[in-house]
Parts: sequence; structure tokens; C-alpha cells
Amino acid sequence: MLPPTELLNFLKKEEKFVIATHMSPDGDGLGSAIALSTALQKIGKETILLCRDSVPQQCKFMPGHERFHNFDTLQLSAVSHQSFKNLILVDCNDIDRISTEVSQISNLKFQISAVIDHHESEKPFGDIRWVTPEAAATGLMVFHIIKELGVEMTEEMAINLYAAISVDTGNFRYENTTHEVFSVAAELKKAGARTHAIYRELFESWSEGRFNLFMKVLNTLEMKDGIAFVRVTKKMFEETATFPDDTEHFVDFPRIMKDIKVSILFREIENDYYKLSLRSKDDINVAHVAEEFGGGGHKNAAGCRIRADFETAKREVLKAFHTIPRAL
Ligand code: 5GP
Ligand code: MN
Repeated sequence: MLPPTELLNFLKKEEKFVIATHMSPDGDGLGSAIALSTALQKIGKETILLCRDSVPQQCKFMPGHERFHNFDTLQLSAVSHQSFKNLILVDCNDIDRISTEVSQISNLKFQISAVIDHHESEKPFGDIRWVTPEAAATGLMVFHIIKELGVEMTEEMAINLYAAISVDTGNFRYENTTHEVFSVAAELKKAGARTHAIYRELFESWSEGRFNLFMKVLNTLEMKDGIAFVRVTKKMFEETATFPDDTEHFVDFPRIMKDIKVSILFREIENDYYKLSLRSKDDINVAHVAEEFGGGGHKNAAGCRIRADFETAKREVLKAFHTIPRAL
């Protein structure tokens, strides 16, 4: 996997970069952004990290996570003085994934934008694009960029990149776990990534409230046509003193059942407005279904938002699975 020369030249030639990842950030977006930023700083560049939402609890062990700006603190930083002319999007390929608020996006005025991503759903954003759906994680792509830039892999970068790859491969369980993934992971371990500690932080650091929320969510299980539906409401968050980030990985569990081909988590954002997380097995492409509702993602993991009451949203999604070719 070789980064395009155009991207490498851009990174070598320019001096100041804002590196942004998607809202509701995950370990891949965060770890890729931090590692890329650190590597660029090592070759004398200035970087600012940007993410609309705060770093989720399970990613707070990642060294450098506290360096992220949100849109408010960004206004107070150098960007407002127009000195940062270059934007790099990591782990997403569309500016709409940075924020749903038009005013925040319109404030971002850059001369050159680059995209480093591995999502299957593509939008035509960016002057320089490196989008590789076959890459298991954006972290893997950033690993190769760092190699090509000739920057030595530090322990901090290794932890961030290992975490990025671990999250997007379901800790090396999913189909995207190629031999290359294992060899890069081995290199990162050698460079200082303490793999058992990273696993514990990412996957086994739930609060009691989060576990209580999980039990409530499992109790909402409904199944139809090999699709499992689970749901989390605002009331459940209140009752367990938890937050939307606490639902990460919940959607993976119903897929454990042999006869379940698709698992969908409906998270209530507000009345009659849901964020959906979709997960599937084998060749069932949930990215195509999510795209139908304005979202996207990967073949086996995708997301979208639907404005409707729960029953209507569920019906619409079921219909999409039956009408989109090869969705089920
Ligand atoms: P999750 O369900 O964990 O939020 O997201 C699963 C995958 O789908 C992630 O790779 C995420 O980046 C992508 N994804 C989630 N929501 C959206 C969305 O609204 N639009 C697009 N294009 N991708 C999404
Ligand atoms: Mn990713």
C-alpha cells in the first residue's frame, strides 16, 4: 500500500496543516490524526488537530488526545488568523462528516484540502484524495505515510496507530484483518505499543453505568428476517447517567447469534430523530443501505440518521434491505 506521490509532496511542501476527523470520533479517526500530526511535527511542520466532539472515555489513554480543538477553541487558535491554509481530513472523505452544522463548516476556508480515508461510501470532496476501501483502518494508511516520510516510529505514534487498527478490525477479528494488518501490528508492538493494555482500555473499561445501559438496550431486542434491532433512548441515558459514546460496540452483540445477519442499533438523538449503527456479516452490504438514508460507511459497518418515529424508521430500513440488490 503506497501513498500517492501527490499527497506525499503536499505534506513535504506545505508548512501548516489542520488535521480533522469526523464527529462522534472513534479510535481510528483519533489515532490516525494524532499520529499523522506528530510525524509532521517531527519534520518541522505546524499542525492543529480538530474534531467537533470530545474524545470518548475509552480513547483517553491515547497519548496526545488532549491536543484536539473543537470549533469553539479553533476560533481562538491560529486558524482564525488565516495562517493555516491546508486541511487534511482523516477517516472520512466528506466535509459534511466533520460537522452537521453549516455555520461551522462555512467557517473552514482552506486553499488546499486532502483526504486520507478507507470508507466505501465516497463523496467528491478534496483536492488530493487517497481513499482506499481495502485498507482495514485509516491508521494503516497513516502508518505507510509515516514510513514514506522517513519519520522514525515513536512509542506515542505506535500506541495511536495500534489503537486505530485494533478498533477498526474488532481487535483483529474481522474479515479486513489481512496478513499486512498483522505485520504492521507487529511493527507497532515492537515500537512500544503495549497491546494487552490497549485492548483493556478500548474494550474492557466500561463504567457500571455503561453496563446498566447495555442491559437495558439488550432488553429492547427485536428480530425480523435475520435482522436484529436494538434501541437506546434519551431516557435510558438519563437513568444510567451515561452518554452516546457509551453505546460504542453495543451493536456488535446481537450479531453473535448464528442466524442474525444484520444488527442495527437505533440511538435516539431527539424526538423522532435516530442515529443508526448497522453491522453485517459476510457479503451483506450495509453501506448501501445507509447511503439510501444519506449516510454511509463500510460493507459490514455503516451509519446514518433518520427523522421518523421508531416504528416508521424500522419499517423504512426493513424495506431498504428488501429492495436494494444484494443487501440481504
Ligand atoms: P458507527 O455505527 O460506529 O457510527 O459507524 C460505522 C461506520 O460507518 C464508521 O466507519 C463510520 O465512520 C461510518 N458512518 C457512521 N455514520 C455515518 C454517516 O452518517 N455517514 C457516513 N458517510 N458514514 C457514517
Ligand atoms: Mn476507520
